Amino acid sequence: MSMNKEMKNSKIIKLEELNWKQVDALERDKTIIFLPISPLEEHGPHLPVGTDYFTTRDTVIEAIKILSKKRPDLNYVLFPIIPLGPCKSNVDFPGSISVNGKVIRDIIFGVGSSLANNGFKYMVICSYHMGLGHLRGIYSAMAKLESKHNMRLIEPWGPIFYSDEIAKREPKLGFDTEKELHAGFRETSLMKYQYPYLVDESYKKLQSIYRDMNSPRVIGKTFKQLGFTEGYIGSPSRADADYGRWFFNMTVNAFINGTVDLYEGKKRKELPAKIKFAMKTFIWE
Ligand SMILES: [Zn+2]
Repeated sequence: MSMNKEMKNSKIIKLEELNWKQVDALERDKTIIFLPISPLEEHGPHLPVGTDYFTTRDTVIEAIKILSKKRPDLNYVLFPIIPLGPCKSNVDFPGSISVNGKVIRDIIFGVGSSLANNGFKYMVICSYHMGLGHLRGIYSAMAKLESKHNMRLIEPWGPIFYSDEIAKREPKLGFDTEKELHAGFRETSLMKYQYPYLVDESYKKLQSIYRDMNSPRVIGKTFKQLGFTEGYIGSPSRADADYGRWFFNMTVNAFINGTVDLYEGKKRKELPAKIKFAMKTFIWE
C-alpha cells in the first residue's frame, strides 16, 4: 500500500496504520501531526467519563477532514488519542483516572522528540480538558520541544476557551454559560449532540448548582469536599443539542485556524496572563 492521492484525500492518515516506509515517505515540511490527549473523568451522574475524551477525538477528526479540503497540499497525521491527564479534583469519584501533569509533559515530550528525531516539525496538541495541571503539562512539553528540537507546536483550544470569545459568539440564551463549569449545560449539550444514547435521562431532573470557583477557599479541595456530591457544576437540565453542535464546531474551528496559523508561521494565540500565572503556580495535578 503506497501513500497515493486517493488515500490522502479519502481518509484520515492514522499513524498506527502506516509502515515505516510510508511514514518516511511523508514530506517533512508538509506534514502536521495531531496529538489528542484528554483524561477519563467523572462528568456528573448523567454523562460518560469519556466526555472530554470523545469531544477531543471527534473534533480533531472533523478538523482534519475540513483541513484536507481547505489545504490539500498538506498531510495531516493523527496520533492515537491518549486517554490521560490530571483531574485530581474529581478523583474521588470512581471512573476518574488522574495522572500527574509531569506525566503529560513527559509523554508529549517523548512523542514529539521521537518525531523530531526523524525530521518532523509540526505538531498540534489537541485537548478539550482544560484543567490547569493538564495545560501546564502540555505547555511545558511544547516549550521543551521548541527549544531542544526547534519544533513548531500549538495548543489551539486553551487560548479560546479562556478568552471571552465563546461568550461573545455563542447564540443568545438568556443565561450565563460561563458558570457552566463541569458537566453542566455546555457539556451535556455536547454529549446530546454527539452521543445522545450515552446521556442518562436523569439529566432532565438535575438541579442547577453554581459556585464561584475562583475563590481561594476552593484551592486543593475536591468537588466532593466542596459539596458537589453528584459531580457537576451548572445546569445540565437546560441541555440543548443545537448548542452542542455550535460548541462542537467552535472547537473544530479553533483546531483548523490554529493549524493554519502554525503552518503559516503566524504568532500563535496565547493563554491569558492570569491563566499562565495560575498555571505556573499550580501544583502538578
Ligand atoms: Zn469535561
